[in-house]
Amino acid sequence: MTIKPFEKPIYVTRPFLPDLSEFTAGLREIWENQWLTNNGPVLERYTRRLIEYFDTENVCLFNNGTLALQIGLQGLGISGEVITTPFTFVATTHALYWNKIRPVFVDIEPDFYTLDPKKVEAAITPWTTAILAVHVYGHPCKVIALADIARRHNLTLIYDAAHAFGVGVNGRSIAHFGDLTMFSFHATKPYHSIEGGLLTFRDPGLKQKFDYLKNFGFKNEVEVVMPGTNAKMNEFQALMGEMVLRHMPEIVSSRRQIYRHYCDCLKDVPGIRLPTPLPNEVVYNYAYMPIEVNAGEYGISRDDLYQVLKQYNVYTRRYFYPLLNDFACYRSVSVSDPLTVARGVAERILTLPIYCGLSLSDVEKICGLIRQIPGQRKSSA
Ligand SMILES: *Cc1c(COP(=O)(O)O)cnc(C)c1O
Repeated sequence: MTIKPFEKPIYVTRPFLPDLSEFTAGLREIWENQWLTNNGPVLERYTRRLIEYFDTENVCLFNNGTLALQIGLQGLGISGEVITTPFTFVATTHALYWNKIRPVFVDIEPDFYTLDPKKVEAAITPWTTAILAVHVYGHPCKVIALADIARRHNLTLIYDAAHAFGVGVNGRSIAHFGDLTMFSFHATKPYHSIEGGLLTFRDPGLKQKFDYLKNFGFKNEVEVVMPGTNAKMNEFQALMGEMVLRHMPEIVSSRRQIYRHYCDCLKDVPGIRLPTPLPNEVVYNYAYMPIEVNAGEYGISRDDLYQVLKQYNVYTRRYFYPLLNDFACYRSVSVSDPLTVARGVAERILTLPIYCGLSLSDVEKICGLIRQIPGQRKSSA
């Protein structure tokens, strides 16, 4: 039995869009206000929603997640060395770079691909000021162990939660662990505001500083108190963010269904490792559908599977390959940790399409392809 390629491309993700009529009703309000950016009324209202959602006043919105993280590090006054993961999107390390901070890459643990606390502790030097950990794929980091290390060594604990909107641990939002957490609301993330970013933080005194930094350092019309940048969220982003937030429960439930269907359909394929089930205390957002391809058992390599799926119009992604320390711009950063786990995972990982609107029959077809491709390759060789 041969499976035909998909007629239209299936991408790894697709943004959730509210009904156009719902959105145009919101646009009418923006037209009436004639206020497009600079802390407008829609942004004010959206900020209040997020304060309720996260149950903290300590939130600050930005035009994207990268600038949110950059400003977060700057506002906290982080310098010297920061221990971080090489298994993430480049923006995590770029935010350090723009603050003239030296990244210290250490290994991840094999189940959830988040920073290995033992490796973090071993990498602390007199120059270490903070830990920048990533809730990669929305998998919560070892939050208790990391908080313990940060407390004992007097380090600031920062989380890149770009993938983790909607995730909770022990009945609390993931925003409440660590000193500062950044969320990305980019269109490719499970929750979005077209583009956008959010900081949540422990010290209420930071709010004023972040507000200055994202608006050129203006205190009032005639006073500039610091050399800030322009990282403000506009009214259109805030409107989209407000609307998508209302749909969050259905977005997560649709993703959960797709995720579980993949797990059912792929559970006995030799050489395909499914995601490790998350601990019971975690509320998950099903941000990604990562599998590991063990070439020896599966029959062909991850890269071959990735290429052949493309021929069937299925566009998976090798998130996160290459590791950050292997990119030309970070190759000169010295790395003492052998990064054994991260290297292996980066060679085997493949993230499959998952988004609200992907049908279960398409999921079955993708799984059918994954099942049949190695045999097909062998018989045509
Ligand atoms: C998407 C992403 C970012 C950057 O967020 P933007 O809103 O796109 O600037 C940072 N870190 C990680 C892990 C991401 O996936």
